[in-house]
Order: sequence, then C-alpha cells, then structure tokens
Amino acid sequence: MLDRGDSRPTRIGRDEGRAADEERDGAAQGCGAYRRIARVAGAFEGKRALVLGVANKRSIAWAIAQRLADEGATLAFTYQGDRIEKSVRDLAATVDGALVTECDVRSDDDVGRVFDEVGTAFDGSLDVLVHSVAFAAAEDLEGRFTDTPRDRFWLALDVSAYSLVACARSAEPLMEQAGGGSILTMTYLGGERAVPHYNVMGVAKATLDASVKYLAWDLGAKNIRVNAVSAGPVRTLAARSIAGFPTMEAIVEERAPLHRHVGADDVAAGAAYLLSDAAKNVTGTTLYVDSGYHAMGM
Ligand code: NAD
Repeated sequence: MLDRGDSRPTRIGRDEGRAADEERDGAAQGCGAYRRIARVAGAFEGKRALVLGVANKRSIAWAIAQRLADEGATLAFTYQGDRIEKSVRDLAATVDGALVTECDVRSDDDVGRVFDEVGTAFDGSLDVLVHSVAFAAAEDLEGRFTDTPRDRFWLALDVSAYSLVACARSAEPLMEQAGGGSILTMTYLGGERAVPHYNVMGVAKATLDASVKYLAWDLGAKNIRVNAVSAGPVRTLAARSIAGFPTMEAIVEERAPLHRHVGADDVAAGAAYLLSDAAKNVTGTTLYVDSGYHAMGM
C-alpha cells in the first residue's frame, strides 16, 4: 500500500509520481543494473468503489475516497439532498469519478436506483462499498437519552444502522459478480459504552456493530467482507451536532495512550487497510483509530 503522507495527489499527481518511477526504472536499466526499481501499484488499482456519506471536504468519507482514488480506484459517490449536491460534485470532479447521484438511505427506491446506476457505470460489478452515513436529531444529542421519542429513536436507527443492511443487500450481486468485495462502515465507542450526549446515536452504533457481524457471516460465503472503523472524535459536520464535542476531544487528548487527536486522514488509512486485499482474511471486525482511547478503563 502506498503511503503518501499528507500530500494528497490528485489523479494528475499520481500519474506524475508514476512517471518519476518509470524514469527511475529506465535509469536503472540504462546503467545495466540487474536490480529494477519496481513501480509500486496502488492497492486499489482497477477497483470500483461506491462511497456514501460525503457532505464536504471535512467528511470522513471524503478522506477515504481520496485515499482510494490515490491508490487507483474509480469512484461513485452519493449525496443527500440539493443542499450539498454542488459540494459533492465539486469534490468528485477532482478524482477519477464515474458517477455522482442522489441517495436518501431512508428510501428503498433511492437505494435500489443507486445500485442500478452503479451496476451500469461499473459493468455490473462493484469491489468496494464505503458506508459513512449517520443521523440523529440535534435535540437527541443533548439532554437525557431517556427522553428520546419513539419516532426519532427509529429515525436514528434507520439512517445510521439499517441503511448498512439495505446497502449491503443491494451491493451483494454486484460484488458477487466481481468475485468478492469489501464493505466498510464507520462506528464509535459510544455504541459499546455510555458516552454522555451521544445518546440515541450510541444505540444506533450498537445496532450497526451487531449488523457488521451478521452481515459478515451471511456474505462471507461470497467472499464479501464487512468491517468497521471506530474513530476517535474528528471535527466534521456530524460531529458538530453533538453537544459537548469539544469535551470529548479534550478527554481523548488527556487520557488516550497517545494523547493526541485523530484526523480524517488517519481514519482513511485504517479504512484503506480494511478495504484492501491486505485484509483479505479480516471480516466482522472493528479497527479502532482513536489514539488507543478504547483500551483505557478510566
Ligand atoms: P459528515 O456529516 O461529514 O457525514 C455524515 C454523512 O451522513 C453526510 O454526508 C450526510 O449527508 C449523510 N447522511 C445523513 N443522513 C442521511 C440520509 N438520510 N441519507 C443519506 N445520507 C445521509 O460527518 P462524519 O463525521 O464524516 O460522519 C461519517 C460517519 O463517521 C458517521 O457514521 C459518523 O457517525 C461516523 N463517526 C464520526 C466520528 C467523528 O468524530 N466525526 C467518530 C466516529 C464515527
């Protein structure tokens, strides 16, 4: 897997890097050297990926998408609603994108149409699915979990957990056609332990975490892997709606073994591992990218 640090080459940058590699190859041969400096192929060269959950350049989904693109993937994106359409289209235009289309994951019609479009764009196959979608009403991310009303409880679980099941089911035939595939979702420690203010989203993440394991069991027979990254606090649009988010960040900095924040790039690096063939025997698991905070008892 290429590690290009913080330099996020666009498609052009990647090709320039390739040219430099080839120049070195030529130079090595020109000196009559037996040792050839091999070009390192990106881990996602030739792979087709669908990414749900880009809202803007701070989205974890965008960091993952860039990583996949840097390493050779062709991407399809979904966006939710007209409000963010332009932002997603502008970002998608900077990478090797095949499709940008609308999807509200609460709608079975939308999910069905999106995977039909993806099948058309990718010749009936799909290798990678990134599910980076969650929602809970802002008023349920403050105050008491006990006061969550029925309709907003189901809303949070529908968008943040059931959507993975619906998307995995739709991805299954396309991934089977590809000979297998890799599905990744984004979770948080608040699904395993009570985190003040995370409330109904914690219950949704617990449902998501269990869904990862059951999907991994069902789909493993078709060589489709399903995993999650559990991220520490990252400043994104969704994070801003959690009351007390700065406190969560401060506590991680104080108590995590590494005493530092994680960035979307760090999360993307973990995601890229799980999505790549390097993790071909890893499924039904959660990788923590949280500076080790999950390991602590207090
Ligand atoms: P974000 O706001 O950039 O992404 C959330 C995405 O969910 C947005 O693109 C939004 O359009 C999409 N979405 C919401 N409702 C939808 C619907 N009905 N249909 C389709 N899409 C919908 O924020 P993010 O922090 O990048 O969140 C991505 C994932 O990472 C979420 O699952 C979140 O819970 C998880 N996560 C985030 C953090 C963090 O600290 N930021 C930590 C752990 C896990």
